[in-house]
Formats: sequence, structure tokens, C-alpha cells
Amino acid sequence: MEDELIKKIWDDVLVILKDTIMATTYETWILPLVPHSFEDNCFCVLSGQNLAIQIIQKHQAQISKALSEICKRDVYFKVLYDEDLHKKLEKERQKVKKEEEKEFIKNLEKKLNPSKFDGLKQMQSDCKLNLKYKFENFVVGSNNKFAYAVAAAVAKDPGKQYNPLFIYGGSGLGKTHLLQAIGHDILFKKSKLKVKYIKAEEFINDLVNSIAKGMDKAGDKNKKMNEFRNKYRCVDVLLIDDIQLIEGKVRTEEEMFNTFESLHNSGKQIVFTSDRPPEKFENTPDRLKTRFQMGLLADIQVPDLETRMAILKKLSIDNNIRMSSDVIEFLASVYNKNVRELEGAFNTISAYTSINQIPITVDIVKKIINFNEKRKTVTIDGIIDIVSSFYNISPEDIKSTNRAAKTAYARQAAIYLAKEMTAESFPCIGEHFNRKHTTIMYSHQKVKTDLLTDRHLSQDIKELTEKINS
Ligand code: ADP
Ligand code: MG
Repeated sequence: MEDELIKKIWDDVLVILKDTIMATTYETWILPLVPHSFEDNCFCVLSGQNLAIQIIQKHQAQISKALSEICKRDVYFKVLYDEDLHKKLEKERQKVKKEEEKEFIKNLEKKLNPSKFDGLKQMQSDCKLNLKYKFENFVVGSNNKFAYAVAAAVAKDPGKQYNPLFIYGGSGLGKTHLLQAIGHDILFKKSKLKVKYIKAEEFINDLVNSIAKGMDKAGDKNKKMNEFRNKYRCVDVLLIDDIQLIEGKVRTEEEMFNTFESLHNSGKQIVFTSDRPPEKFENTPDRLKTRFQMGLLADIQVPDLETRMAILKKLSIDNNIRMSSDVIEFLASVYNKNVRELEGAFNTISAYTSINQIPITVDIVKKIINFNEKRKTVTIDGIIDIVSSFYNISPEDIKSTNRAAKTAYARQAAIYLAKEMTAESFPCIGEHFNRKHTTIMYSHQKVKTDLLTDRHLSQDIKELTEKINS
């Protein structure tokens, strides 16, 4: 078939897939595919990314269905890895990346007025790595989709909706990244607005210093406090990181309340991050707690396996480090709780292997991160035990062919957790559950999809994950 027609079919398929496949997966793995041939009912595409083959297999049925719909007959779908395409993509990516950075710096110097430049500089000196903390560098998965979307909405229209925005979630899951991304975006696109990023800890120290300085000299008391207050109240956007640190500090809470009221009443945007939701601020006065809750609350959960893999893939591309799909999958399954740790492992491995000039293989990686199979606490059988006692059934039932609704539900949860929380392959998990690996793949995918809409299931999975990790 002619190349042009093949391309046209693929373009039509992409339109369907864009709406049916999650955006991160679509953009990272599907969009870069290149249609190659269409013979004997088999539509073949090429990929320049080794890892794509594995990920795309999970969506094989969806893609074949879309192809069949477009061609109005049964069409099979095949994806092949292509080394030349890999090299080409890699080259283009490096070029785009360099140009983007150049453009960013150039715009900064040229377009920004001095006060905005100070704002950005201030933000950068406050939070070191910050140029990296932009929306473009944030990998969106089902765990952070909502927080990302509302953060982007706030950056687009600060003070208009979702005020305050309160982002909460465990350590190392991207709260600071999103908070600073809001700051960058506003500073960059709305040069007139004054943005201030501050860690709650600095707010506390600043207050303590102002009080202490005010005490040195009679008459200075009000002056110092006014200086302190003005600093936080003259901004258009106040970004406060780790607000939980003020809990129980009465004077700071009072100042925070006043700052909040002053800004909020004049339509200025406030964004908080916290390691817990407002209702868990046990020692904070209700009037401040209700202020935290009066806008929008957005939580960030632990990313699932596919998102963790996408984060690693992005790191490897951005740093120009070649990492095979086995290594990516292995690391993503070992570091399953915290993106900071996942990134830390990536940095250690890339530094070690490039200094010693050795390839990055799973065995070498295991040595570098001191991975000890025996020390590994999360096992498939351990998961089966915990899940069965959680649902009050026996581990034998989970492994059996019993189709009672409750057993099937527990079994699917256990299969999902086994894939997400251990480094085992689908066939190996299949052996533990007495099932074929395709059945395991199906169950894993089903739970993953259901998690997006089923709050009950998502609560169960959250509790089970905590039990398994504890
Ligand atoms: P938190 O503030 O929640 O403790 P951070 O925002 O400091 O976490 O994130 C820890 C590290 O993980 C940062 O380097 C951040 O860039 C990275 N990170 C977290 N989530 C993501 C994501 N979704 N995409 C890309 N990088 C992420
Ligand atoms: Mg943080």
C-alpha cells in the first residue's frame, strides 16, 4: 500500500487513540510511532524506543480495534523497534532541548522587567534546582492528574478560581515541583504579577526574627512587624511550601491567618502544599483550617508503575543516558513509593556507570543500589496473605478458580498489587496465582482502569499498599 495512504490511516487512528488512551502514555509512547507498512491485514509501525514495545502491547487490543474501525475490516497491529529511528529521535530531542533552554534564558533576559527578574531570581535562589520544576518537566499520571490540572488552571488565571489551592500528599511525590511550576509559569507569562515562593519554615524564622529585632529597641516593635507583614501582603501570588510545619505554633498561625485574610480579600492567589490534608491539622485553630479548605483541595498519590516508568524514561532522555527497558522496569518496581528516591537511584546509577564506563544492566544496577533479593520484603505470597486477610478469605481461594464476586475482587486487587509492588514479571506472577500471564495482564489493566473511577477500590488499594509496606 502507498505510504501516503498508510500515513493517512495512522493519522485517523491517532485521533481515536488520543481520546481513549491516557495522555502521558499517548504522548510518550504512541505519538512518536512511525507507520511503516500495511500488508495482509497486518498494520506495522516502527518505534525508536525499545520500551515502547512492551507498553504498547498493553494497548494492542485498543489499537487493533481503532484500525479495524477505520479500515472497516479486521486489522492486526504490530510494532517493531528500529535502531535508525532511535538515533534520529535522540538527535532531534537533544536539539529541541538545547533550543528550549536557550530560548528560555534569552526571553528571561530580554523580556522581563527588573522586578519580575528579581522575582524569578529570588525564587531560584530560594529553591536551588528550580529551573527544572516546570510544568513541562512534570510527568502526569493518574496519581497526580487532578493536582496537575488545577495547578495549571491556577497558573493561567491566578486569584480567579480555586483560591486557595491546597495540594497535599506524601513526601517526594512532586508537591514542591508543582508549586514552583505555578510560580515559573506566572512569572514567565504574566510579567506584571508579583510572585513569592516561600517555605513555611522561612515564614516562621522570618516572624521570629522580626519579633526579636523589634524587641532590641523600644519603638522598633511596630516597624519590624509592619515590615514583615508588608513583605507577604504586597504580592499577587503567594506560594507556601510545607504549611504543615506551622501546626501548633500559635503566633505563626495567627500571622498566617492575617496574611491569608489580607491577600484573599483583595483577590490575590494563595497556594499551599502540605504532607497532610487540613482536617489532619490537629493543633491548628478552626478558623485557619477552614481557610485552608475554602478553595480547592487536591491530593497527589503514589505514582503507579507505568507513571514511574515514564518518569525514568524522561530522566534517561533528558540526561542522555541509555537505559534498557528491563532496567527501567526493574528500578520502577523497586522504588515504588517516592519519586525523589527513584530519581536518587537514577542519578547514582548514571554517575557510577558513566565514571566506570560500564553498561547499565539489571545485574550491575542491583549491585549499585545494594539490592539484596533476600532482603526484599515485598513478595507475591506476602501480598496474597495480606490481601486475603483484608477481605477475610483464604489465600487458597485467591489462587483457586472460585468465581464468587468477593473472591474475584480480592484476586484482582492482589494481582494488581503484585505487579505494582514487586519486580516480578507477568509470567512469574501468573505462576503464583495459577493463571496464564495474559490473564494476569488483563486483571492488572482492569484494576488500573477501574481505579480512575472507583473510589472504593482506590481506598482499598491505598490501605493495602500501606499494610504491605509496613
Ligand atoms: P515533595 O515536595 O512532594 O516532597 P518534590 O516536588 O520535591 O516532592 O519531588 C521530588 C523529586 O521528584 C523532584 O526532583 C521532582 O522533580 C521529582 N518528581 C516528582 N513527581 C514528578 C513527576 N510527576 N514528574 C517528574 N518529576 C517528578
Ligand atoms: Mg517539598
